[in-house]
Amino acid sequence: MTDAPLYDRLALIGSGLIGSSIARAARAKNAVREIVMTARSEKTRMRVVELGIADRVMATNVDAAQGADLVILCVPVGQSGEVAREIGPHLQPGATVSDVGSVKGAVVRDMAPHLGADVHFIPAHPVAGTEYSGPDAGFADLFVNRWCILTPPDGADPKAEAKLRAFWERLGANVESMPPDHHDLVLAITSHVPHLIAYTIVGTAEDLESVTRSEVLKFSAGGFRDFTRIAASDPTMWRDVFLANKDAVLEMLGRFNEDISALTRAIRTGDGDTLFDLFTRTRAIRRGILAIGQDSAAPDFGRPHGQTADKPTE
Ligand code: NAP
Repeated sequence: MTDAPLYDRLALIGSGLIGSSIARAARAKNAVREIVMTARSEKTRMRVVELGIADRVMATNVDAAQGADLVILCVPVGQSGEVAREIGPHLQPGATVSDVGSVKGAVVRDMAPHLGADVHFIPAHPVAGTEYSGPDAGFADLFVNRWCILTPPDGADPKAEAKLRAFWERLGANVESMPPDHHDLVLAITSHVPHLIAYTIVGTAEDLESVTRSEVLKFSAGGFRDFTRIAASDPTMWRDVFLANKDAVLEMLGRFNEDISALTRAIRTGDGDTLFDLFTRTRAIRRGILAIGQDSAAPDFGRPHGQTADKPTE
């Protein structure tokens, strides 16, 4: 027997990797009675119709949000404020409005002014994803055993928060709540700076003159290949993440630059102990991640030979 639905109508604004994964998971887990979806372009909306992952596909954000008791924005973070401005006056009283943005402080700042006191605003960030985009990229198991972080504002209704928590748990996620600024600091070091490093190193390899492009591709298994997967992540999404989480990213980059200067010096002066000590400590972090089931110990990300993707990038 399946559990009863938690919400009557879920509106997903944005039908990419995350929106379409929520739709698939919510349907598979009977989390809502009805799913309505929309996207910015006619092309994506048509594709959602073809995929059959929504009960109804609406032409506008307002049409989708009207009459829904749970509205989740699944758009790049730079779009959140504008979408909230559009739908704000049309929301059903008592509805819960949430999002999935990878940055929380800026999203709260941009969305909150457009949402009335009669709706519950509870931002969220499922820390799960891949380097792929669009409605075809989603899958129902994306959130299973991943964390979803809620950042309810002060004074948020505990019942609305508990219900949204139950929704994410129904989709398979573990849920934790924290203030938006703390979320942004944690994600700066665990996700945003690692993406920046991957984008940088792949760009540096691209610019090399003394090593040919075909050599970079051919010998990529030496470590480079793992960076290329992360550096293949969606350019719009990640541009918005760095612009929206500027302060926390700059803080973490400052520390990173200091540490890389210390390592540069250790290499230059032949200080093997410093290198060995650091590499021993970092190995313990990796073992900790495996121990809590957030990655597989299998080599090559546990992919069967020839399979190209699907490790979380966040
Ligand atoms: P995506 O696959 O590129 O999909 C984005 C969707 O948003 C598309 O359907 C797009 O429509 C739609 N959209 C953009 N602007 C819109 C607007 N003004 N009104 C209505 N729809 C609009 O992106 P995603 O990977 O799902 O990411 C969505 C959000 O999830 C981002 O905020 C990101 O930070 C967050 N997130 C991503 C990951 C990840 O690994 N990808 C993980 C966790 C959280 P069109 O297709 O018509 O342009």
